[in-house]
Amino acid sequence: MDASLQICKIKGIPIRLHFTMLIFIPVMFLFFMMNSPPIGFNNVDMTTKYLLSASATFLLFLSIVLHELSHSFFALKYGTKIHNITLFIFGGVAMMEDIPKEPRKEMQIALAGPAMSMLIGAFFLVIYVFLKHLGVFSPVRLLAASMSTLNFMLSFFNLIPAFPMDGGRLLRAAFACRMRFVDATKKAALVGKIIAVVMFVVGLMPDPAALMRGEPAPPMSPFLSLIAILIFIAATEEENATRIFSALEHVKVGDVMRRGDQAFVSADMTVEDVLEKMASERHTEYVVVNTYGEPVGSVFFRELKEIQEKREHKISDFIKPIEVVSSEDIALDALKHMLREHKDIFAVVDDEGKLVGAVTKKDLIASSELIAGKMK
Ligand SMILES: [Zn+2]
Repeated sequence: MDASLQICKIKGIPIRLHFTMLIFIPVMFLFFMMNSPPIGFNNVDMTTKYLLSASATFLLFLSIVLHELSHSFFALKYGTKIHNITLFIFGGVAMMEDIPKEPRKEMQIALAGPAMSMLIGAFFLVIYVFLKHLGVFSPVRLLAASMSTLNFMLSFFNLIPAFPMDGGRLLRAAFACRMRFVDATKKAALVGKIIAVVMFVVGLMPDPAALMRGEPAPPMSPFLSLIAILIFIAATEEENATRIFSALEHVKVGDVMRRGDQAFVSADMTVEDVLEKMASERHTEYVVVNTYGEPVGSVFFRELKEIQEKREHKISDFIKPIEVVSSEDIALDALKHMLREHKDIFAVVDDEGKLVGAVTKKDLIASSELIAGKMK
């Protein structure tokens, strides 16, 4: 989600545009230009067609933002932090932290989006019916028909019970009323995967209309199969993330950190020395300490290995800044902190502020797998 551009802020939530939108915007515009009503505008004169397609692309955009804002509104109400809303090729995502694990709250947050889309759909439907009743055939009436149809479609599509759609979260919340959150996620992910497989197969089936005409039949919808693959991946990711997160929830940083010598290198070591230590201990990142045993930075194998010339130089010329966490902190919070700040390693201090070890993203994920395995 990094390759994105902030376009504005609403209620303190940054609205970001992912670079895939650069493809999506012209595709949507063409889609409106070429399709017939009620979705597209291929039945009007050129100028109107351009104007309508541009307005429809903009309004669709706005509809997706409102859908995501609606999720965010309920999430904020339950104290969940929203980092940003990112619009990308298949719609929007509200990047939330700590989605509440109480099923009722998750349900409300998940439902808020489709409900908003339905409201927008209904709003445009009223405009359409009103204009039709007056006997006015105006471009506005066409636009209202299109926006109403698309928002209803957006709402129904999002209610498909598969991650990453809202329906997947609703299903998980429904399961979570009767079992642990991790198990509920596993079940919901399984349902999502089954739906994805069915969608994939259906998309590749020969077009029945062509078959009936006795013509060679192309696949019904390769696009549907492509979406199915994305849904399958999303289900797997959601399952993995939940497993990792719930395993680290009750563990402290001190339980999963790397201790002593294995965690540190001294600032006056040379690049060559550190590379040797990395090779023999098989770790790719270390906390760099000064002569007083204080953390002054971090070094990474991926960066040191690029250094060809100055390998006899002190490591202190190549260090990156380091953050410090407490060994008493919850491991899950440390992992989230790392993911948020794109960090790979933290120095760990005990409750007296003494440096005792290092914790890395790799260690956290590896130990979560072990803990999750034990919990089974
Ligand atoms: Zn949604």
